[in-house]
Amino acid sequence: MRLLAVVMLLTSCMETKKKEDMKEKNTTISEKTLETPLHASDFDTEIDGKSVKLYWLKNGDLTMAMTNYGGRIVGLWTPDKNGKMTDVIIGRGSVKAYVDGPESYFGATIGRVGNRIANGKFKVEGKEYSVKPNNNANALHGGENGFQDKVWEADQPNDNTLVLQYTSPDGEEGFPGELAAKVTYSLIDEHTLKIEYEATTDKTTVVNLTNHSYFNLNGEGSGTILDHKVQIFAEEFTPVDNGLIPTGELREVEGTPFDFTAPHTIGERIDADNEQLKFGGGYDHNFVLGSQRSDGMNHAAKVVGDKSGILMQVYTEEPGVQFYTGNFMDSKNALKSGAKDEKRTAFCLETQHFPDAPNHPDFPSIELIPGDTYHTVTEYQFSTE
Ligand code: BGC
Repeated sequence: MRLLAVVMLLTSCMETKKKEDMKEKNTTISEKTLETPLHASDFDTEIDGKSVKLYWLKNGDLTMAMTNYGGRIVGLWTPDKNGKMTDVIIGRGSVKAYVDGPESYFGATIGRVGNRIANGKFKVEGKEYSVKPNNNANALHGGENGFQDKVWEADQPNDNTLVLQYTSPDGEEGFPGELAAKVTYSLIDEHTLKIEYEATTDKTTVVNLTNHSYFNLNGEGSGTILDHKVQIFAEEFTPVDNGLIPTGELREVEGTPFDFTAPHTIGERIDADNEQLKFGGGYDHNFVLGSQRSDGMNHAAKVVGDKSGILMQVYTEEPGVQFYTGNFMDSKNALKSGAKDEKRTAFCLETQHFPDAPNHPDFPSIELIPGDTYHTVTEYQFSTE
């Protein structure tokens, strides 16, 4: 009897070991071929009693690492002009680093309302609500504990898709209504990352979701983005005050450093003597999109890494895109590669409705009413030139 028990125990230990080996093998396949510094064990943890993990998505040569902590893109690899796999996402190497770091938005899904709400105050159906200011006098990216700090429920139905869900309780960060958000990240072909955002509410609320990836198309740790060449398909932008709140005006880009209708390097005019650039410490502005593809998607932007030749094109159903050039980055965060997040070592293109929309009746509305579904798609397409 005793012998049988020992044999059974040994068999079960061997089974467990075999499973662990298999698991380790699976999670390291991408790590090995890509020579990435990311390890599943640095992401395997629990936060608020919920399981956090590292997920790998793959389609041909396009590979993406995500974590459900903050619904976050951790890395995205695509070949450069010489075929070298290049990680174009600035991110961190562990969940702990994301939790402890001073910058909490790296790669994250942003909500309930992306960008700023003036003084954190807004009205819905005539009633005033307030979100505690977390950016000087204003509320930024959904308040102090926005969606970037939440553990999203994750489901990976296949190799190239990750479905993330988070239900934001009624009153969370001051917003009315329970909001059920679902964001599907998928590599729909070997060039394209598609992000599909959906949400429903049980009370009228405001919602403006985006992704806050910091890109460097030359690869993380390769210096500033100042020589990247950018085109933004916008004739107008929304100028801001010194707290980066839109004044309400739609201003023509023509004749200003905001004219990216033809390609310019980011650095060419970033320090020009221009009040708007001074307010942002560089570009930190919402551009008004309007150049539609036949399927209704706006062609938002085209960016090329000067060293890698990697070309990223952004398409979106959103009416705006926040072009942010990492002006507030100040070497406080160590990145995956060990490099520091130095000033302007990354740029963001956050597709969105306009900042502070609830306080500007002329801006496209971000209200969502019960029974309606918020639905919006953004695509990032990678190639080389
Ligand atoms: C904002 C910046 C802010 C950054 C935080 C951007 O979306 O426009 O002003 O500093 O997010 O990472």
